[in-house]
Amino acid sequence: MPKKTNGEHKQAEQELRLLYQAIAASSNGIVISDPNQPDNPLIYVNRSFELMTGYSTEELLGHNCRFLQGSDGDQPVLEEVRAAIREERDCVVLLRNYHKDGTLFWNELRLSPVHDDHGQLINFIGVQNDVTRRKQAEEALQRAHDELEDKVRQRTARLAESNARLQQEIAERRELEEQLMHQAFHDPLTGLTNRTLFLDRLDLALARTEWREGKVAVLFMDLDNFKVINDSLGHEAGDQVLLAVAERLEESMGAEGTVARFGGDEFTVLLEDVASVSGAVRVAERIQEAMRAPFYLEGRARFITTSIGIVLSTSGDEPPEVLLRYADTAMYQAKAVGRARHAVFDPSMTIAALERLELESDLRRALEREEFRVHYQPKVALGSGEVVALEALLRWEHPERGLVLPDEFVTIAEETDLIVPIGRWVLEEACRQTRLWQDRSPGRSALKTCVNLSARQFQHHALVEEVAAILRETGLDPASLDLEITESVVMDDAPSTLAKLQKLKDLGVNLTIDDFGTGYSSLSYLRRFPVDFLKIDRSMIQGLGEDPKNEAIVSAVVNLAHALGERVVAEGVETEKQLACLREIGCDFAQGYYFARPLPSEEAGLLVDSDLNRNTSSPPPDPAGKRPT
Ligand code: C2E
Ligand code: MG
Ligand code: MG
Repeated sequence: MPKKTNGEHKQAEQELRLLYQAIAASSNGIVISDPNQPDNPLIYVNRSFELMTGYSTEELLGHNCRFLQGSDGDQPVLEEVRAAIREERDCVVLLRNYHKDGTLFWNELRLSPVHDDHGQLINFIGVQNDVTRRKQAEEALQRAHDELEDKVRQRTARLAESNARLQQEIAERRELEEQLMHQAFHDPLTGLTNRTLFLDRLDLALARTEWREGKVAVLFMDLDNFKVINDSLGHEAGDQVLLAVAERLEESMGAEGTVARFGGDEFTVLLEDVASVSGAVRVAERIQEAMRAPFYLEGRARFITTSIGIVLSTSGDEPPEVLLRYADTAMYQAKAVGRARHAVFDPSMTIAALERLELESDLRRALEREEFRVHYQPKVALGSGEVVALEALLRWEHPERGLVLPDEFVTIAEETDLIVPIGRWVLEEACRQTRLWQDRSPGRSALKTCVNLSARQFQHHALVEEVAAILRETGLDPASLDLEITESVVMDDAPSTLAKLQKLKDLGVNLTIDDFGTGYSSLSYLRRFPVDFLKIDRSMIQGLGEDPKNEAIVSAVVNLAHALGERVVAEGVETEKQLACLREIGCDFAQGYYFARPLPSEEAGLLVDSDLNRNTSSPPPDPAGKRPT
């Protein structure tokens, strides 16, 4: 290198001074270390570095810069500083340093090696800056960023969670809606289509007939005597029957039609594309066939029949409700003519249905309007010819129709349960009247009254108590009361039937099986039931004296009853011939127009009085003059 001239030397010195002053005055902390001394001590620090660290030049010089890290000397970033020193290259690092007063500050260090003209390392210059503020700002920013990110994350999680909840709610709601839809259109017990859905389907089916050949048929089905099952065996048994019926109905219909439960014991069937009424009739027959097998309830076989009304659409214009009403009317008709059958709707039936409705509403008021009367028909002992009892027979004095006979209203009274209060009234009236007759003539103290009980009355839970109360209130001797129960009631072999008959018997009253020969009483039942009289039905008496076979049957019944210790009453005796036959057979009592028709109480009273010494060989006078010719 050429030697410098004096002037050059001076200038260089001048420049060096300037440089030195610039370094000394720099706002950056500047330090110079000597790597050629052990542990690379500081050999220069400027004023800014003093201020930055809190240490004086004297305290700093001769030490390695590392003491500023205090106990924090294992910062990973120092590795980079060590490498830069080793490799004699620049580096920029951020160090955690401690001020003399112990406070932390962030020191941004730019380290550069200084080489001499020969490339020998002579110094390291460190330019140091307290960047604590910046670092804090960065950290605050980072924290804010992290917080924000955290919030976003939480919010996203919450959103995802509420979305999942929403999805679940939607699924649950959909399921609920489906359930509600199903409930709205199906019967809860049987699961069959309900009335609403059935009417809807019927409406659609009727609309379709516009472009289809076939017609629509509606079958309206009602179980016969379902009420009896429900009342005697309880609602659970009733439900069991309804379920079994629904099952059989569905089985027998297959995919052919829509089967619905309308409520109670009413079911309907909708058939489409029916060519003629005979097609619908065949379906009704198939259903009735399916119901023929016994239903097992509480281990016993029960037979349940059904009545079915059938209607066929004619134009397709009939509203569904009207078609249903027609089918219902036809069903009533089927019931009216004896149940367990089907009937096809015919317009004349609606009039009958209207009349029935009218009758029903009149019947509801008849009791309070005191329109009922009791007529009495004598029961005559064939041995003595004496009137031993009077059968109470209900009459309805209808304000417009005149005297209405029980056949016209007893079935409705049973179906509507009105028979219970009406029957109670008859019993009371007959007991009161008989007691009056007994009191009036001393020779008549053994006069009895026979009162009919329908199946519904017999099943009424308070029957026994009511009979006892009425006997008490009227003062009639229980032995003077004879309760007539139809054969069909006794046919029910339920233990409860037997128990009830026994309770009645225990009151001291007599029991008669009425209309014997119309049902199918098993002879073994007769033996078990505590009855006193068997009343042979009029239909068996009518043919007496005409055909020897009738005599043989009646004779067999009389012998059987006698063998069982029961006495026999013949009802509906109209002719002398019939009477003669009955005497010959050995029948005990008789009733019928031959002796007298049922009479109002005053006339019956006269008959009782005049009968005191009468002989049956010549029939008693008929005070009402109503004896048939
Ligand atoms: P039932 O108990 O078998 O009564 C006999 C029926 O035959 C009576 O009809 C009677 O008038 C009629 N009769 C009597 N003798 C002759 C005769 O020689 N020839 C003909 N052709 N008929 C005769 P009624 O009064 O119309 O009663 C019909 C049925 O109504 C009764 O049959 C009975 O089952 C029921 N009934 C009548 N009154 C009551 C009542 O107060 N309560 C209940 N539950 N049912 C009653
Ligand atoms: Mg009777
Ligand atoms: Mg009878």
